[in-house]
Amino acid sequence: NSDPSDSVKFIKDKLLGGLLAAGFDDGSCLSRYHSVKGLSGNPSSYLISRLRKYEALHKKCGPYTESYNKTVKDLSSGQLSESSDCKYVVWISFSGLGNRILTLASAFLYALLTNRVLLVDHGVDMADLFCEPIPDVSWFLPPDFPLNSQFHGFNQKSDQCHGKMLKNKSVTNSKVPSSVYLHLVHDYDDEDKLFFCDEEQNFLQKVPWLLMKTDTYFIPSLFLMSSFDQELSNLFPNKEKVFHFLGRYLFHPTNKVWGFVTRYYEAYLANVDERVGIQIRVFDTRPGPFQYVLDQILACTLKENLLPDVDKKHGITGSFGRSKSKAVLMTSLSSGYFEKIRDMYWEYPTLTGEVIGVYQPSHEGYQQTEKQIHNQKAWAEMYLLSLTDVLVTSSWSTFGYVAQGLGGLKPWILYKPENETAHDPPCRRAMSMEPCFHAPPLYDCKAKRGADTGAVVPHVRHCEDMNWGLKIV
Ligand code: GDP
Repeated sequence: NSDPSDSVKFIKDKLLGGLLAAGFDDGSCLSRYHSVKGLSGNPSSYLISRLRKYEALHKKCGPYTESYNKTVKDLSSGQLSESSDCKYVVWISFSGLGNRILTLASAFLYALLTNRVLLVDHGVDMADLFCEPIPDVSWFLPPDFPLNSQFHGFNQKSDQCHGKMLKNKSVTNSKVPSSVYLHLVHDYDDEDKLFFCDEEQNFLQKVPWLLMKTDTYFIPSLFLMSSFDQELSNLFPNKEKVFHFLGRYLFHPTNKVWGFVTRYYEAYLANVDERVGIQIRVFDTRPGPFQYVLDQILACTLKENLLPDVDKKHGITGSFGRSKSKAVLMTSLSSGYFEKIRDMYWEYPTLTGEVIGVYQPSHEGYQQTEKQIHNQKAWAEMYLLSLTDVLVTSSWSTFGYVAQGLGGLKPWILYKPENETAHDPPCRRAMSMEPCFHAPPLYDCKAKRGADTGAVVPHVRHCEDMNWGLKIV
């Protein structure tokens, strides 16, 4: 009878300061109450109370409850029944795993702010990756939900698309449809982007079913809307921890994935003085590895004193004894960078005398989004990176954002290489642990013209790794 998490050191505060609800069955999801790492800072008591309120609403409105059944009927008839007291956001499974984690957190916060219930499309693998986060009632959309078969086909040209309705001027307050499709994918257009205007929220508020497809972390733009401003300040007095708290509330690896995490952690990471994570994501279609990427990793980690340099001249030290030890956890689709760095620390001694172990769990070669075990490993690796003490990430990568956000870490971000040359300086420290919104609207809703949304309030700025993106700092 082997519990995969028997011997890792867990933190004592099982409920993370009240962030997590009590009462789940422990064995069905070992990761939930057995955090290896505590929270960075404390969630506000208001956030905690709103989560408990959300859980109560979810219980009242969740799949196959009386209210759910009634509201689903409206969907088939197209008629709104006055008494429908539950409204929903349906999150449609879409894009890579890092993106999906960020968009689920965004959809959840939107649901919280608008008193809706979030229901999650299974996709191919969601249930194999994540435990249920809400007590008593599932967050998954039932298999017999009448619009399930349409999700795949929804796009900007669909009649129920909010942006298209605005183009056709078919949005009127007198005739409220039972469902609206929200296209918040990075290729969305000016009309789709009006989702982020308060006026449109007044209309959307009345629609019982909002069906959302998105691949980007849109929370920064919610902070710029007067509809949500006050509530967001109350929920997150410490603004830069939005994803950290929501992520630790929502995303608990299933026992299968938790086995990957705990076995690896215990074998390679548990018994060292410091853990350094290096997440390498190369957006180059050729196979690699590339020398300029390796040079950049080394330039960053040495310059910022995250890893020690090696002594290539003298090269002979070596006595057994208690030297400071560091474990480097690398993640990448390729094994080339990891092999080079591992060999370097084997072939030469460090100048500081520190002992450096270098490890990489998988090297999957290329992205295989539809393959179950591939995504389970990807999720385990994001989680393992979040357990490090010091983190280096790659520009533009949502995989890295998830790791930094869950881990409460402000990473050093490797600048995106241009024309196969590493940037100088090679990396910079992130302003905050928050993910970057890659496709924000650059629009002033009141003035109805373009505007720099990164210059409106001090806590929403342009990202370090993408100068048109927005992040909370
Ligand atoms: P992004 O493309 O970097 O923003 O991250 P996503 O997670 O959305 O999509 C990349 C996908 O490629 C992941 O979900 C994995 O399937 C795969 N992938 C990329 N980097 C790694 C890695 O270091 N390890 C593993 N196991 N998979 C990776």
